[in-house]
Amino acid sequence: MNKMRRQSLVAYGQPLCETVVDSPSPRGSQVLVRIERCGVCHSDLHLQDGYFLLGGDKKLDVSAGRALPFTLGHEIAGVIEAAGEDACGAIVGRRVAVYPWIGCGTCAACLGGEENLCSNHQHLGIAVDGGFATHVLVPHPRYLLDYEPLPADFAGPLMCSGLTAYAALKRFTGRPERGPVLLVGLGGVGMMGLAIARALFRAPPIVADIDAEKRKAAIAAGAAEAYDPSDPRARKAIMSATGGLLAICDFVGSDKSLQFATGLLARGGKVVVTGLLGGNFSIPAAMFGIKAMTIEGTLTGTLAEARELLDLVRVKKIPPIPTRNRPLAEAQAALDDLRAGHVLGRTVLSA
Ligand SMILES: [Zn+2]
Ligand SMILES: [Zn+2]
Repeated sequence: MNKMRRQSLVAYGQPLCETVVDSPSPRGSQVLVRIERCGVCHSDLHLQDGYFLLGGDKKLDVSAGRALPFTLGHEIAGVIEAAGEDACGAIVGRRVAVYPWIGCGTCAACLGGEENLCSNHQHLGIAVDGGFATHVLVPHPRYLLDYEPLPADFAGPLMCSGLTAYAALKRFTGRPERGPVLLVGLGGVGMMGLAIARALFRAPPIVADIDAEKRKAAIAAGAAEAYDPSDPRARKAIMSATGGLLAICDFVGSDKSLQFATGLLARGGKVVVTGLLGGNFSIPAAMFGIKAMTIEGTLTGTLAEARELLDLVRVKKIPPIPTRNRPLAEAQAALDDLRAGHVLGRTVLSA
């Protein structure tokens, strides 16, 4: 029996540690993927903690319904190693990115093609063992997407940080034709958003982050202008340069980032929120009408959007974001660095 190595969550709030188990044998439509790369995402920190911060002392417990030890990681690229007898098209040796947002297949969200929004989901690395491992079991070959000629350490992160940014930017509909887009927060998702926005929209986006290094990296990656939202002059500077904005992506998702974003909206503008940092946000209710404003949340993206994104990246030759590769054994160190805010772009583990 082949063995698989994993960096496992064995207790909430505790460091990951290595576990070794028999490698699963795929049955039916299942496919076993040998993992080449798996990106490290900010949401892995919340899952390791076992909760999301809701603001004040309130926490959203996310520790229920997950058997420990558990394998985090949902930005997976690998090679098909074995397939069940009903896994049509799963050719051994094919290199694939794994769409991790797998639903139950029977609820209204799943039937509508939004498996990412399924409430009885089997999301890899969230509800079912994921990619901080040498292997992952995928329930059906439809979730395996060809990504070549892109590099594996780009294809994996496209399945979460890239997809999240892409789905969020699509929500702006025609607004980016009428003025610049602002991206708030330049972590992995924000940097993906910058790269994708440059390919999607005519004008390069403007960006905001409290970290000077990240602003510098964004300018190097083609942002039109970079602002520090903690600088009280930033709001005025953006307003006088743009007259107010129609399309803002909040990749942070905190009380501060939402205050900053909504304060910059022009009439008819929209803030799309993907970040999950936490905090409580309030706004005078009348502002919705007076400003004809929209605040919309998104959660990753659909399987169809994942396919669209891979095509877009290939056709428009969207460049990879800054990426650091680390061995799988350094998974905990990678999470620690991310928590400390020391990561520029994406960290990707290699099994
Ligand atoms: Zn993620
Ligand atoms: Zn479902």
